[in-house]
Amino acid sequence: MRIPGFVLALAALALPFPTLASVGEQAAASQTAENSGIQDIESESVLALKALQLLDQHIHSAGYRLVAANAAYCKENVPNTGLLLHDIQQYGDSAAARFAHGFASDIAVNAVAPGSPAAKAGVRVGDGLIAVDGIAVADVEIDAEKLADEQPEYRRIATISAMLAKAAADGSMTLSIVRGGVEQEIELAPVQTCPSQFQIRVSDDRDASADGKMVSISSTLAEYVMGEEELAAIAAHELAHNLLDHRERLDEQGVNRGFFGQFGKSAGRIKATEIEADRLSVWLMANAGYDPQAAVRFWTRYGKEYDKGIFSASTHYRWKKRVELFEEEIAKMAAMQPVDGKYAPPLLVSLP
Ligand SMILES: [Zn+2]
Repeated sequence: MRIPGFVLALAALALPFPTLASVGEQAAASQTAENSGIQDIESESVLALKALQLLDQHIHSAGYRLVAANAAYCKENVPNTGLLLHDIQQYGDSAAARFAHGFASDIAVNAVAPGSPAAKAGVRVGDGLIAVDGIAVADVEIDAEKLADEQPEYRRIATISAMLAKAAADGSMTLSIVRGGVEQEIELAPVQTCPSQFQIRVSDDRDASADGKMVSISSTLAEYVMGEEELAAIAAHELAHNLLDHRERLDEQGVNRGFFGQFGKSAGRIKATEIEADRLSVWLMANAGYDPQAAVRFWTRYGKEYDKGIFSASTHYRWKKRVELFEEEIAKMAAMQPVDGKYAPPLLVSLP
């Protein structure tokens, strides 16, 4: 989860349960001193944090399924544990974060993708991470210069996530975790998957993006989605951009991806990448066991409601065109004989 401004997170996601807070206040008034810490925790904060974690867990699970199921078709594979960590430092209100998420230690498990090596090894959400292959996470040195692009409160988790990836490279790793005050060691056998990570970005904007490595879906768009298959449809489109190196390709062509990219040659080149991402997305979904028709359902519903939004700027096809692209690709798959339940995506197979 990314929180550009914690206040923004709560403003965007504050849930309508004021009554809980007032009940809490009344209860707190009659509490003894030993419970007094709880008075300071806002129910709204806790619920907003839990809602965000739930979205993070869903996007992480869908993302893992997509990168794991399509590994054979990606030109590059990376070791993957299926683990998503978070750092107490990321949260402006650490008392609320501890209350909402547990945090058995300052670095803890935020999500475990179902079916992943971490899930198979028995890692659980809330477990505290103490060490990776015997190296204590408390001792990691943060290279502030190298992580200059990261906000300071995200630098430690970025460093530890990189440490985890490095340890995973040889196909086996030992995590020292703490759960319920008890330390234990867990052996993990990371698997090879397509690259890309997935996150929820807290924002009022209804959008999604891919920067070559990370797929980000705004909290507002994720809240609009109905069910994991629709979330997978959005994630698959953005993952397709990453797997097809679209950002790099557009940069090489000198395409302006900003405001001026909406006009002329830049718009045409961006639109070409959008069409490719739409075409590839349904293959990625089908291989991961998601119904590719979820892409049709989502964009039809979304298009009817928000046809003037960012997704239908001149760089993007309007929704009816996009739905036609999905249907064309679904028909191609239907005419094929899958191998082990999978369809080789033409756009990935033809990559140099
Ligand atoms: Zn796109």
